[in-house]
Amino acid sequence: MSHKMTTVQLFNEIKRAGGCSNPIRLNGEFLNSVTGEVNERALLVACKDRRSVVCPSCSYLYKADAWIVVSTGLIGGKGVPASVSTHPRLFVTLTAPSFGAVHARKTDGSCRVRSQPRCRHGRMMTCSRRHVDTDPVIGTPLCVDCFDYPGAILWNAQSSRLWNRTFEHVRRRLAVTQNFASEEFDHHARLRYLKVAEFQRRGLVHFHVIVRCDGPGEPFSPPPVFLTTPLLATVISSVVSDFSLTTAHSAVAWGRQFRISDASVLDRDDLRIAAYLAKYATKTTDGSLDFARRFHARSEILNLDVTPHLRKLALTTWDLALEPEHATMNLRVHAHAFGFQGQLITKSRHYSTRFQDLRDARAAYMASPSSDDPVTGTFTYDGRGYDDPRATYVAEFLHRLAVEARSANSATNKVIEVNP
Ligand SMILES: [Zn+2]
Ligand SMILES: [Zn+2]
Ligand SMILES: [Zn+2]
Repeated sequence: MSHKMTTVQLFNEIKRAGGCSNPIRLNGEFLNSVTGEVNERALLVACKDRRSVVCPSCSYLYKADAWIVVSTGLIGGKGVPASVSTHPRLFVTLTAPSFGAVHARKTDGSCRVRSQPRCRHGRMMTCSRRHVDTDPVIGTPLCVDCFDYPGAILWNAQSSRLWNRTFEHVRRRLAVTQNFASEEFDHHARLRYLKVAEFQRRGLVHFHVIVRCDGPGEPFSPPPVFLTTPLLATVISSVVSDFSLTTAHSAVAWGRQFRISDASVLDRDDLRIAAYLAKYATKTTDGSLDFARRFHARSEILNLDVTPHLRKLALTTWDLALEPEHATMNLRVHAHAFGFQGQLITKSRHYSTRFQDLRDARAAYMASPSSDDPVTGTFTYDGRGYDDPRATYVAEFLHRLAVEARSANSATNKVIEVNP
């Protein structure tokens, strides 16, 4: 059902949907509290999609929420005491191992120079080109036959588990340094973390993690004196270097490249970190719409207009799902994420405030008094989008205007924006 609305109706529709470009339509019965009449009509609900390519305005709100969730764990606010900013904390970046040589842009602008010029398939393993940052060849293999596609997919698929087990081991090893039993760690101290997954251009995820030391008592209480930043850094570094997750078919470990930096002596940089992480959380696998949704057929992947490398990553995920030993890995539904499963942002309890609390607070603030109060329990899903298709463009236009107005306003306040 599509019909043209007056301009006022159009704006009201967009306002009701919270500015969303592609709202969810629900049909339900509404009670007019003034007249007592019950009317049936469509309710538009914001899609709340975090990906900016899917919905710019919902993604903008998500990014703002992500910024609050990350930053309040560093500096306090929204119910988190400011004293957390005095706790030892680290900023850790963990990467995947190499699954084959890929084109890169190093800091000096060069790609790859190897003493072994050709691989066993006779392909050049040296690249003397200087790629510009937007070159789609960056992240693609120098030899597709040398690149271990199944290895890369299985690594992505198990990376969240690898992190959980790594974190467990960090706590165990910290307990060992203090001569108490590992299961007693929580009686002495608590480690809180927030982790953001980011897809590298070669299609593998890496993790950016903030780890903060707290005390064992009330949430956000000060940590014990033994738990210092250098001790935590040493222990994390040793666990990341030697820990591996052994499964029936393989051993999954971290890449040799990892970075640990002290986030407790920084102040303004803490906020830079928060902005950096919030930005990652609104991306899709490759930053485009192609990998924003699940695939329902192998042919959908074959028909994608993407680099052969990205297509092969998705196809390998799809095909690996057929193998009995991977049956429990749920790979097919994650082919658009190259096997990676789980949320892009995850955090331990009491790292900071919760996304849901922020959404609830916003919903309460936005709920304007209305004579139409929905009757609960009678809603049915009725598809996506506005009745008038022009509303999508208007919603996106209004969103751009709002963003421009915001950045013009804060130009003097200096917007914190980090380019990785
Ligand atoms: Zn939306
Ligand atoms: Zn190259
Ligand atoms: Zn080769």
